[in-house]
Amino acid sequence: MNIILLGPPGAGKGTQAGFLVESRDMVQLSTGDMLREAKSSGSEMGKIVAEVMDSGALVTDEIVIGLIKEKLQGDNKGGFIFDGFPRTLEQADALAQLLEAEGQTLDAVIELKVEDEVLVDRILGRAADAVAAGGTARADDNAESLKTRLMAYYKQTSPLIGYYYAKGGLTSVDGLADMATVQKSIAAVLDA
Ligand code: AMP
Repeated sequence: MNIILLGPPGAGKGTQAGFLVESRDMVQLSTGDMLREAKSSGSEMGKIVAEVMDSGALVTDEIVIGLIKEKLQGDNKGGFIFDGFPRTLEQADALAQLLEAEGQTLDAVIELKVEDEVLVDRILGRAADAVAAGGTARADDNAESLKTRLMAYYKQTSPLIGYYYAKGGLTSVDGLADMATVQKSIAAVLDA
């Protein structure tokens, strides 16, 4: 079963994807993780995307669709979890075509709903915790980039909620609940 986790930055997509990898042997495809990897490896693509990522804006559809295309050809074990992809209508259309070409289906789209103030607190808290633990915060986990990330979400990504609602298969889950409750709500959707 292949699913999308949809939601603004800080909604808990990565955390919930991690649970699904553990409990259902699914494969997490996080374009954010792939791009951060490219950035830290210093590859050509990493150099191209670094500045855009740090600002909080979206990188081009062409780049992320290329990344996903490569991964779709690999083993999907218990299914793919698309985490942070698609983020634009163009990416959503491309995903539909790529899945079809692979003879795969999209089985559920789960929206994690969280209010803005909570997102800001969560993300800035995540940055502060990382620094307190002696590490470094994500380059885009700061107040200014966060504004751009939220704007990108509302302008470019949130139309996907209507898109998948119309297509069928969208379920909204309360992302404000504690992690275990969100995990249960997602499991209920997948087992329905
Ligand atoms: P994330 O870890 O999902 O919050 O992604 C971090 C950053 O990577 C985003 O703010 C974007 O700059 C970039 N990014 C990740 N996924 C995508 C995507 N599907 N489309 C465009 N940019 C993306």
